[in-house]
Amino acid sequence: AYAIYHSRWGMGLFAIHDDEDVAEVMGVPTYRYKLLAFGLSCFIAGLAGGVQAMFVTYVTVAETFSVVIAVDVVLMSILGGTRYWFGPALGAVIVTILTHALAGGQSAILNRALIGAILILVIVFLPGGVAGMVVRRRPRQAAPVTAEPVSPRAVSGGNAAPRSPGSLILSCSDVRKAFRGIQALAGVSLDVRAGEILGLVGPNGSGKSTLINVISGHYRLDGGRIVFGGDDIGGFDGHRVSALGLSRTYQIPRPFRRLTVLDNVAVAAMFGQTRLGRATAQRESQQWLEFTGLADKAVSLPDQLNLHQRKLLELARALASRPRLVLLDEVLAGLTPSEMADAARLIREIRDRGTTVVFVEHVMRVV
Ligand code: ADP
Ligand code: MG
Repeated sequence: AYAIYHSRWGMGLFAIHDDEDVAEVMGVPTYRYKLLAFGLSCFIAGLAGGVQAMFVTYVTVAETFSVVIAVDVVLMSILGGTRYWFGPALGAVIVTILTHALAGGQSAILNRALIGAILILVIVFLPGGVAGMVVRRRPRQAAPVTAEPVSPRAVSGGNAAPRSPGSLILSCSDVRKAFRGIQALAGVSLDVRAGEILGLVGPNGSGKSTLINVISGHYRLDGGRIVFGGDDIGGFDGHRVSALGLSRTYQIPRPFRRLTVLDNVAVAAMFGQTRLGRATAQRESQQWLEFTGLADKAVSLPDQLNLHQRKLLELARALASRPRLVLLDEVLAGLTPSEMADAARLIREIRDRGTTVVFVEHVMRVV
């Protein structure tokens, strides 16, 4: 559990837990990761079952596969804390001790009722489980903010170098997408050239977000072709599109709710095109937070951010994978004029670092 918790796989699983769609678009191979997790869980359960069978020397369906056992296992995980590698083990110890302490005679039914009550109390008052409580009691180490002062310019250096300005980077032709009766996209064609900032304007409901969703692999397209940097990405899963260097933001921010702001960005840097190790990803992410002005929020949870900051977090995540092309969906909506000017400057700066920008907006002045 410790190894998985600290691995790329573990990070991916936490991201999947919080928002599977977003994880996929940020480059996490969600299907493979879930299948692996399922396989490993079955392996461990099978192993335990084998030991149990030899230990008790008989196995009956009624006892071995009773619902109570499944409930106990869930209780152990939730009570201990599912976000920490030692949580479920801690929960198992507590539940086992409680069960034995209360077992025997008349109290068997009482015991189950008590365990049920504990489960409810934990879910309501301790969403992080006992492990979460233990970890929170300890003063949070100010750790990840130890990034050496490298300028963010150096961070994006990787993709700024060789590119032919003006060459076609994204080409959509006759893209169609319908949601049952609603034809959201009917033959959209769009060419984006490397190094440009392209504004996409249109009234509400005209399909701008849908276009971004289709390009980034969030939705399957119904027809037409999407070519990105030479690859026909029309039928690609989100994580493959992301690996080619395309990232996007969501119009309504969709952060991973139970990861810190820093880790939200780190996920993008660990998957997607760059595939950095966790430590490097966190160091770089700190710089992206500085770039977007969120540095002092690194250890906060996304719930503690206001809308403007969440939009900036979306932006930081989109940039952290060092994309060649970034699709921004109304990052400026709802900002004050001065915030908007700042954001517009930020977008220009992104382009100057070698990332092509397509942004959806309906504030004409900015476009
Ligand atoms: P925009 O971003 O330009 O405001 P959208 O792309 O969000 O527009 O929506 C375009 C149209 O597609 C709207 O009529 C919307 O209701 C519809 N639409 C978008 N997503 C879905 C969905 N998941 N299911 C059904 N209809 C959708
Ligand atoms: Mg939209």
